[in-house]
Amino acid sequence: MLLSVVVPCHNEESVLDALVAEVFKAIDAPDVELELVLVNDGSRDRTLELMQEHNERDSRVKYVSFSRNFGKEAAMHAGLTYAKGDAVVIMDADLQHPPKLVNEMIEHYREGYDQVVARRTRDGDPAFRTALSRLYYRLVNKLVDVPMEDGVGDFRLLSRRAVDALLAMRESNRFSKGLFSWVGFPRYTIDYKNQERYGGGASRWSMGRLLNYGIDGIMSFNNAPLRLAIYLGLVLTGLSFVYVIYLTIAAVVAGVQTPGYITTIAAVSLFGGIQLIVLGVLGEYVGRIYYEVKGRPPFIVAEHGGVELPAGHPGE
Ligand code: UDP
Ligand code: MG
Repeated sequence: MLLSVVVPCHNEESVLDALVAEVFKAIDAPDVELELVLVNDGSRDRTLELMQEHNERDSRVKYVSFSRNFGKEAAMHAGLTYAKGDAVVIMDADLQHPPKLVNEMIEHYREGYDQVVARRTRDGDPAFRTALSRLYYRLVNKLVDVPMEDGVGDFRLLSRRAVDALLAMRESNRFSKGLFSWVGFPRYTIDYKNQERYGGGASRWSMGRLLNYGIDGIMSFNNAPLRLAIYLGLVLTGLSFVYVIYLTIAAVVAGVQTPGYITTIAAVSLFGGIQLIVLGVLGEYVGRIYYEVKGRPPFIVAEHGGVELPAGHPGE
């Protein structure tokens, strides 16, 4: 069988050599041919040059280079698009996803699983981040109609039919965690221990970026937040209706005492807030529709080596 290993890379010059060596050394399951598809996501360092060198030295190493930084989601999408394998593994460049684990994934793939997912245990993570992420997944699983799991990232093996199913989804606003879950097929989960980033350095994900990613996760899967906004609006309208009736009766029974300055201010600010929330939610969806309607490609390839552009790709 041919196994494609897809690696999105953004400014990874310090780890790329180690990654390439480690992938070919560690993945040694029987009867497996390897192809390494490196995706350069607008790196500003020597990542692309290193990719070209590796491609010249070893034709199993292929690369696709974007015209700018399109984000990890787009890079993974490109990798899946160009991968030729009977099965495809997606992993990070920084060796936080141990390539050795791929051998185990292949075993389960051969047992007939279409998705073999690696779940990382969170020992050694900052406590605050761990807590935040637990909370997030509890919330997401309440709101979203596909199950998502804490610790499960993009490190996984996908069978050819799972990859094709993913590629058939044309949305450009992609949230892979949800898409993986949405396509279904038999899946198997294996646990692995949290790894340090190779060569140290900070994660590419700042807190703000994580927050945006979190909102994407909720928004891209259904209209639950929209419905939540409607319910919130209904409840508050009901409450204010009751309050107004109460005030009217009180005024009739006891007469008007003080002009309700505080209640007015309170009501105005409360409803102002609610309206902003609802408008924000609506705006999110309208924005998403706007992006989809434009039908832009999810990424633009500036150059590539060793891969063929898929038919119908606007790049050539
Ligand atoms: N990455 C990417 N584009 C980006 C940011 C990150 O392709 O805009 C890649 C990066 O090179 C790495 C993977 O996504 O291979 C995960 O990034 P990182 O290790 O910074 O994130 P974390 O491990 O904290 O999730
Ligand atoms: Mg990492």
